[in-house]
Amino acid sequence: MLDEMNASRFRLIAAAVVCAAFACAITVPAAAQTRARPRIFVLMVWDGLRPDLVTPRDTPNLFALEREGVRFARHHSQYPTLTMVNAATLATGAPPGVAGIFGDTMYLGPALKSLGVNLQGDGLMQFVARPVMLENSKRLEELNAPDALKGNLLGLDSVVQETAREGGFVAVIGKQGPTYLFDDRVMTVAAGEDENHEPHAHYLFLSDDAAAPGADAAALDAAMPKASAAGVSDADRDRYFARVVADRALGAAKKAAAAGHPALIVFWQHNPDATQHRAGLGTLSALEALTVADTNLATVRAAIDASGLAGRTDLMVVSDHGFATIRLRISLAALLVSAGLKKSLDSTDVVVAPNGGSDLVYLARDEFSSRVALEDRLQKIVDFAEAQEWCGPIFSREIAPIPAPRARSPHARYRAAPAAAYRGWINGTFAQSALGLFNANRSPDLIISFAEASDASNRGFTGPDAPAFALGIKGQQSVPNKSEPLIRPVAGLIYSDTGIGDRWTTGMGMHGAAGEREIHNFAAAIGPDFKRVFLDQFPTANIDVAPTITRVLGLMLNAGPGGAYPTGRAMTEALAGERSYAGAVHAFTATTDLELQGVEAITTLQLTRLGDRTYLDNSTVLRKPLGSSP
Ligand SMILES: [Zn+2]
Repeated sequence: MLDEMNASRFRLIAAAVVCAAFACAITVPAAAQTRARPRIFVLMVWDGLRPDLVTPRDTPNLFALEREGVRFARHHSQYPTLTMVNAATLATGAPPGVAGIFGDTMYLGPALKSLGVNLQGDGLMQFVARPVMLENSKRLEELNAPDALKGNLLGLDSVVQETAREGGFVAVIGKQGPTYLFDDRVMTVAAGEDENHEPHAHYLFLSDDAAAPGADAAALDAAMPKASAAGVSDADRDRYFARVVADRALGAAKKAAAAGHPALIVFWQHNPDATQHRAGLGTLSALEALTVADTNLATVRAAIDASGLAGRTDLMVVSDHGFATIRLRISLAALLVSAGLKKSLDSTDVVVAPNGGSDLVYLARDEFSSRVALEDRLQKIVDFAEAQEWCGPIFSREIAPIPAPRARSPHARYRAAPAAAYRGWINGTFAQSALGLFNANRSPDLIISFAEASDASNRGFTGPDAPAFALGIKGQQSVPNKSEPLIRPVAGLIYSDTGIGDRWTTGMGMHGAAGEREIHNFAAAIGPDFKRVFLDQFPTANIDVAPTITRVLGLMLNAGPGGAYPTGRAMTEALAGERSYAGAVHAFTATTDLELQGVEAITTLQLTRLGDRTYLDNSTVLRKPLGSSP
């Protein structure tokens, strides 16, 4: 798989550079960037931060940063708008189709089976015969092991690994799961098996569940706020991680920069995501979580200033995805069983990996007698889902023939026939390949986004006294509302599937769907390489972050044996001393139309094109009685 990916990536390079020269006026060719610069880049992720929640009152430090430096006014999360998907994209500059991560919960049975892994054995391999939650370093390590994914958990190297390869200092600190995707070496370094034998001066990894290197890490790990019977406070952990960045990582980065090397520090906070999930958007707890995250930002900036590093340190703050309020909890697996489209909740003919705002649906090839039978079931699932009010856009994977990326650049396809390129293999769906979501080994057959009502307020939904409902095998039922009292109403409601169980209810927070409240996330940056007081109105995205770090640190674009090339773009319009884009921003839509029994479902993707890049902005579904005028 890796060789094939590398081959296709080289072709993407060619396509990107040619187009950039014409459409985007990028003046520095990629080949000129071969010298690492003694810069320090700090990437601080506020998990789940929405741009409209950044205000002088709740987040004064972040508000000041985005006004002093660059504010990315049209930033985009990678769809599916989930933490692990965006961690992989932020780390590599590649979409899920290349990076290989499609959800926080994935069903990797088929991918492992295709590699010849025995799923009947004991331990993890048996476990991954079902959907598995990926936010766990040890589980990711087992998946990445030589007898499983063979180090190819991510389809290409991360920007952290590129920095390390250039002899730079790297630190990855924060929430378990996403941190591992920035550097999968943590366990081997912790076990003293790192190949360069002197990782201590160049490396620091600390997450909730893993630490490296050696004795240093043991001490940091021991000092971490521990989980109690009541659970660990994510705020306490984030505060601790911020102190580790300030007191340990920046000092080591300073030494590296003084010695002429680049340094990259990634700091991933749990909040506001964790609290927004649990308490709900606009609750007192959620507002307090923003304040803690903002205080941590102040801790980091104060340490940069106090170390005399302001002149050589760039600080970028991004979120992985936006957020919305759960309107209704559904169980897609249960609904498919009720509709006769899945044998039972535990059956493997149709496997649903629930991911909040989007579900990943996999059909077992060996349980359908023919391709026609498979296609027929897929169409029936799509017909069933598209008729429901909870359903948003659906993205189908190409079955056969699988389009070979090396033969045909997806960018070329966009330019030639945009409308046709977006049409999915199954009627009423969009093509995964048109949005960077196709991966021959990892793609689910269907990615079903649930509907988002972007402008609907969560008043009447969030709060323990508000009604709450769940839709499952017994139809719609009233359930307790587990959210906290609403202080300040926030717009954006979604349907959510987190599987069978009652942990998540109406009024709590969720994300993962293809709606604008989840797609439009936060990004801002400040430092010597970024413009001052600059509002970037070009579309930008999480996929563009790693290429921008690469540009600032002067890393080689395709370094090392793993040969990685990001498919995002360096956001040069925001960089000091670089020319802005000359290319035009072009908004367009892609639509599917599905006629069901008495109903016509028209699903529209709103997209923006900049040069050869395409950004997904929003999606809507219109359902109307057949034969009625629009
Ligand atoms: Zn997240």
